[in-house]
Amino acid sequence: MQRTLIKNILSDNKLIGEQVRVCGWVRTRRDSKAGFSFIELNDGSCFANLQLVVPAQLANYKSEVTQLFPGSSIAVEGELVLSQGGGQSVEIQAETVKVFGFAEPEKYPIGKQRVSFERLRELAHLRPRTNTFGAIARIRHALAMATHQFFSGRDFLYLHTPIITASDCEGAGEMFQVTTLDQNRLPRDKQGKIDYKQDFFGRKANLTVSGQLEGELYACALGNIYTFGPTFRAENSNTRRHLAEFWMIEPEMAFADLDDDAQLAEDYLKYLFSYVLEHCREDLEFFNQRIAKGLIERLTTLATAPFQRITYTEAIEILEASGAMFDYPVKWGIDMQSEHERYLTEQHFSGPVIVTDYPKEIKSFYMRLNDDNKTVAAMDVLLPEVGEIIGGSQREDRLELLEQRMQAAGIEPESYWWYLDLRRFGSVPHAGFGLGFERMVQFCTGMHNIRDVIPFPRTPNNVEF
Ligand code: ATP
Ligand code: MN
Repeated sequence: MQRTLIKNILSDNKLIGEQVRVCGWVRTRRDSKAGFSFIELNDGSCFANLQLVVPAQLANYKSEVTQLFPGSSIAVEGELVLSQGGGQSVEIQAETVKVFGFAEPEKYPIGKQRVSFERLRELAHLRPRTNTFGAIARIRHALAMATHQFFSGRDFLYLHTPIITASDCEGAGEMFQVTTLDQNRLPRDKQGKIDYKQDFFGRKANLTVSGQLEGELYACALGNIYTFGPTFRAENSNTRRHLAEFWMIEPEMAFADLDDDAQLAEDYLKYLFSYVLEHCREDLEFFNQRIAKGLIERLTTLATAPFQRITYTEAIEILEASGAMFDYPVKWGIDMQSEHERYLTEQHFSGPVIVTDYPKEIKSFYMRLNDDNKTVAAMDVLLPEVGEIIGGSQREDRLELLEQRMQAAGIEPESYWWYLDLRRFGSVPHAGFGLGFERMVQFCTGMHNIRDVIPFPRTPNNVEF
């Protein structure tokens, strides 16, 4: 008999009175004096467990069913009936119970008592079996599906940009090097420097920090594209918002300016909020109750409320006029810190804010210079609690200005000859942004630490599993 998912059993009334088979892991078992065992079974398809009523008459009742402790895996067949007791709508009257694997109660680390999120990071192989991590995994999945639906529905092409690259999109360090050189016997050139000509790619290579530059190449041929892939940053920042390996979504639009970019970002975020509200209700209820009070209300508001749009200069004026005490003093030209971003989203506007037109000195070389010669057409989308969720810009499409910006940033234009070619042949205005996927999952679940919204987090000194 084919197995039915518990989510379908719980949502499809037509199955009542039918013979069904379910498979999953025991969450709890208790024995009644009347000669029954009640088992709460979870198969990961939804938040809720299914109740199984197992009568003592079954041949393997004594030998096996009474040995089923949390974590054991079983298949059960029987009739789906309306439940007698309170607390659940339906239950299975078990006719057979097949045990796949027992779990020893003394050894199973997530069996009984509550386990902290910190401890669960050390048990990342088992944590998907908990309520919280099951719900996170389903919401993560929904957000990924929603992303593809949103962009594909708007005729954006899903582009796979390389993971290994020789370019550094940000013009900054913080990259993981990719090499096959023997680290104990590094080849040297005449000046005594490491000779990367002998390395696998014949030059220094690293893991990508962004697919943007390659994304631009395809956008300037196919119109609109988006990437959705892993990104790597060797930043030694032990914060609750940074990972060494995270997933990023990067749309890029040809024939578009910063306003179009901000509009796309707002539409995309609203689509995601609406999508999880519609598709992940049960999981959201859990987070709303246990992790972040008011989460559902916040997502509901954000799904429709307009985002505030202000320039960087206006943001600085607001912060200066606020009278608030910041650790990092505010003045025009600073790179806004998380405390400033939080003030804007949580105190001043109580909602999402898109900040545009930042000083050119604090932004990347590829952002388009504004007519004031001081600012660039950049934007950050800030959300309450998580802060920056999106960074984007209109790209510099004028060859000469781009070369100047590169030189000012200490980047050799020759090494980006292909990027510059885009400005030599049929250059067009174009714009795009990057959204950190895990920050989005954090926002939609209310989970405090980013390490808990990716299955196997990679952070400094942590690469287990
Ligand atoms: P931050 O100031 O928070 O470090 P950033 O300015 O380095 O962010 P970008 O380079 O613009 O970020 O990257 C685009 C998006 O990717 C960010 O808006 C953020 O959502 C996400 N992001 C950046 N770095 C990380 C990281 N280390 N871990 C998880 N997400 C990240
Ligand atoms: Mn960063």
